[in-house]
Amino acid sequence: MGEIVFWTIIRTIIIIPAVWLLRGYLDFEIWFVLNIFIIYLVIIHPTITQYRLFEEKNKDIVESTLCSSCIHFDKSAILCLKHDLHPTEKFLPCEGLDWEPKSSVKNPD
Ligand code: SF4
Repeated sequence: MGEIVFWTIIRTIIIIPAVWLLRGYLDFEIWFVLNIFIIYLVIIHPTITQYRLFEEKNKDIVESTLCSSCIHFDKSAILCLKHDLHPTEKFLPCEGLDWEPKSSVKNPD
């Protein structure tokens, strides 16, 4: 997930000055419409595509490993927060010893 955010920021850093430079060469209306297309094609679309690939790649880990039902699992980063390692289908950082069910979290209310 961090990689997706990183490359989105890099693309944004590159695109903003490029689009700003285009402003001097085009009428405002054309520049504005072109801006929307460029931002979608260079920033938004690749980010959405990368996120979908990330979800598809990690679908089995999120849905069918022991970690998926553990309180220490962060599914947005596919990360065991207790061991600071990325579990896979064949690798559980704690080997199941530190597993705690999500339902064990007490409601603070
Ligand atoms: S503590 Fe164990 S079961 Fe829980 S997320 Fe980490 S590796 Fe998975």
